[in-house]
Amino acid sequence: MENWKLTYKVKCFNCGKEVDQIIEIFPNQAFITCSNCGAKRYYIIRRVGIEDEKIINEEREKEHKYEPWFLEKKAVCFNCKNEAIQDIVVTESKLIVRCRHCGFTRVYLFHILEL
Ligand SMILES: [Zn+2]
Ligand SMILES: [Zn+2]
Repeated sequence: MENWKLTYKVKCFNCGKEVDQIIEIFPNQAFITCSNCGAKRYYIIRRVGIEDEKIINEEREKEHKYEPWFLEKKAVCFNCKNEAIQDIVVTESKLIVRCRHCGFTRVYLFHILEL
């Protein structure tokens, strides 16, 4: 799996500015860094496997402390090797990446925040 890098413009929970948040996803960890204040959130891989799309939909329905982010990225899936849309969900407690083609899913859990 190559590393994926995305940006998402949203109000930073730390500095309060609406600026790009840089999302970097690696096989075993993921980072989200605010381009303004540098607040960095670390997520660590918790489990990997084939999941139903309800793992994404559940996050849409759940109550969250902060508004979750729902992103999409077209990328070559590590599992099925197809170039397919990958759903990416970011919440205050986890980060989920799921291939729409084969259901291959990585679930990362929030680890620490570095200010
Ligand atoms: Zn910030
Ligand atoms: Zn796939």
